[in-house]
Amino acid sequence: MKRISINVSDEIKNILPETLKKDLQDHEEICPVCHGLGVVVDNNIYGIKGDTSDAGKKSMFPYNHQAIKFCPNCYNGVIRLCRYCGKQIPKGYIDRCGCEQYKQKEEEERRIKYQEKISKADEVDFEDIDSDMWLYDEQTDDYFSDVDSFVDAYKDFDEYESEEEIMNNLPKILWLTDPVDISMDADYIISSACEDLHEDAYENISSEDRRELQNILDEWCKKQTGTRTVYPNYKRYVRVRKGWFEINGNY
Ligand SMILES: [Zn+2]
Ligand SMILES: [Zn+2]
Repeated sequence: MKRISINVSDEIKNILPETLKKDLQDHEEICPVCHGLGVVVDNNIYGIKGDTSDAGKKSMFPYNHQAIKFCPNCYNGVIRLCRYCGKQIPKGYIDRCGCEQYKQKEEEERRIKYQEKISKADEVDFEDIDSDMWLYDEQTDDYFSDVDSFVDAYKDFDEYESEEEIMNNLPKILWLTDPVDISMDADYIISSACEDLHEDAYENISSEDRRELQNILDEWCKKQTGTRTVYPNYKRYVRVRKGWFEINGNY
């Protein structure tokens, strides 16, 4: 083995310019870790199995392949500062800060988006919806089969301790839902059943016979009562009324 030293300040002149240009935007600063170079020293220590040298006896990893790597604290030698608290935004978080002001701003934006979504949808009178219509609460990502179960759920939430707290945390609206029941496609079933058969097998099944199977499947699906799945319908909503809670006693 031989150890050589490379004179960085000599060699670096061969590959780097005298100065680096940095156009800093508002809320950008030179990285304090790499001083704007965008790179730091990387230690890659290693050992050799069965090493009997003095160095090998003293340490498991006595050797090093020191090199230069990208700075782990920044991109391109520049860090971004939070526009609210002025602290550095950690690498990879793209303008996301953990500070209170930032959270407030995020909450405000979320509220505006929610309002916009509601303003693009139609309000439906509660009296006009079917009694079997499920309602979707976007705030908690819960579905409710009716208003009573919605009211009960909010009364039961452990995190709310008083009537006032519940009222303050009620969603403004509940989305209506679209139901989907089980269905099966005869053509799809036949074609997958024919997959390993001879190439004309699928074609040799008449359209009458396919229709017959479809009818059987439809009948069978109709008998199923436990498959109904509902999806939120973001075009229609009912407004949540505080009165729902009063009618249901207690409050
Ligand atoms: Zn850096
Ligand atoms: Zn911040």
